[in-house]
Amino acid sequence: MLNKEDLFKNIIAHAKEYGFVFQSSEIYDGLSAAYDYGPNGIELKNNIKNYWWTSMVKMHENIVGLDSAIFMHPKTWKASGHIDAFNDPLIDNKDSKKRYRADVLIEDHISKVELKIEKEILKASKRFGADFNKKEFISTNVRVLERQKKISYINNKMSASFSSGNLEEIRNLIIELDIKCPISGTNNWTDVRQFNLMFKTQMGATADGASDLFLRPETAQGIFVNFLNIQKTSRMKIPFGIAQIGKAFRNEIVARQFIFRMREFEQMEMQFFVQPGEEIKWYEYWKKTRMRWHHSLGIDSRNYRFHNHENLAHYANAASDIEFKFPFGFKELEGIHSRTDFDLAAHQEYSGKKIQYFDPELGKSYIPYVVETSIGLDRMFLSVLSHAFCQEKLENGESRSVLKIPAFLAPIKAAILPLTKKDGMPEKARAIMKSLRINFNCQYEEKDSIGKRYRRQDAIGTPFCITIDHQTLEDDTITIRDRDTMQQKRISIPKIHSIISEKTDIANFLN
Ligand code: ATP
Repeated sequence: MLNKEDLFKNIIAHAKEYGFVFQSSEIYDGLSAAYDYGPNGIELKNNIKNYWWTSMVKMHENIVGLDSAIFMHPKTWKASGHIDAFNDPLIDNKDSKKRYRADVLIEDHISKVELKIEKEILKASKRFGADFNKKEFISTNVRVLERQKKISYINNKMSASFSSGNLEEIRNLIIELDIKCPISGTNNWTDVRQFNLMFKTQMGATADGASDLFLRPETAQGIFVNFLNIQKTSRMKIPFGIAQIGKAFRNEIVARQFIFRMREFEQMEMQFFVQPGEEIKWYEYWKKTRMRWHHSLGIDSRNYRFHNHENLAHYANAASDIEFKFPFGFKELEGIHSRTDFDLAAHQEYSGKKIQYFDPELGKSYIPYVVETSIGLDRMFLSVLSHAFCQEKLENGESRSVLKIPAFLAPIKAAILPLTKKDGMPEKARAIMKSLRINFNCQYEEKDSIGKRYRRQDAIGTPFCITIDHQTLEDDTITIRDRDTMQQKRISIPKIHSIISEKTDIANFLN
């Protein structure tokens, strides 16, 4: 069994070797926290986008799409609060000279305490066997209770210090908890400073007339400033939503963990506009709906959990993350935020234009409240890839690397493999390829032994391998091999389409 670190390294190496993800500008030794998606990567990414867009836009009559520009008027970011408040608290270790996010150091410390609680529960469940009552154990065990108290204490203290903007207290908390730098092993910390995460650039000639712009740190603001354009042209009635997929940029202080934390990344966001006072109902609705979407992928539901925020962003009155069990632990995959009327009200104020909705039901105008669902496409990609990656020992003593990607997200749905390059098999295989490729992404391969070709397809997660052999030429049957079970069935050529379709048509998985 590989430890978590080695497993993650193997996943990164695999992603590169099989054309999923490359470091950006690799020939110049790479650019930190920027990545390129190769031929298999872009297929997987597009399939994830499509799965999200279908479930959000196509399957909701009251959600419409948008593709807004990355460049926006600089006042946007003043109104949204990003110029004044989109900061991360950074802290340096004086011995290792390594830089950290102060809040992440504290959150990682909390995760360690949580892990101790989980271990305690596991130990007890083994000791008591079938009689184990988890609820009772958690509410009565002294050690568990003490640790839970400690977590609440840390959360409250952190939350109070951030709300009051007292960075010295954050540093004191790090010292009090004796949090050490993982590199130097010391707690010799600098003061905590705020660091704005937006990238600045200029539009126009660089002389005096040029204006400073920011690369958008979230796609949401493009939706807010278009609220009235869309509401009017699409004749939408509240409640309704606007969805968008697009790039976002953040000058992250610490960008590690591959595509988990990038400086250029993609978001899939949906802003749902509701009547004031109805936002918590819709917030609960979207929490449930988004979790159901994640579960529809068929990945074990124990890999997901909610994490409700104690420490709310400047615009929110409720917020929760859907966390996924990445190889480096449970981390945020998606955020669901009740953003109140903060953004629309601010844009109304800064632009001087009225942004209101006349509600025929209530007979009055108001600024709608907003519930947002925001998921990182790259993080979603990493969750699918990391969960899919397996290295298996086979009965014959060999081993294989296989990506058990949900079949409907797999880059290639079927590989078409003539057993040999002669006797008319390639021609037959090409004809099958031609009949399938309009509906399914297929790959034709005739090089190397059939075993090697199977291994290559396993490694990129192709759910079906279709082999054309001597018998095909006699009776129009082929063998179809299942990626996960490696079992082969002989079927007639006209049946191929429905077998692939059953596992890869998203209509069978979204509801
Ligand atoms: P984190 O706490 O990890 O920095 P966040 O709370 O700042 O994330 P949001 O502002 O809620 O993130 O953004 C919504 C989603 O965008 C996140 O759930 C995540 O999936 C994605 N995301 C945010 N920052 C990054 C990043 N630097 N790289 C890749 N994806 C990101």
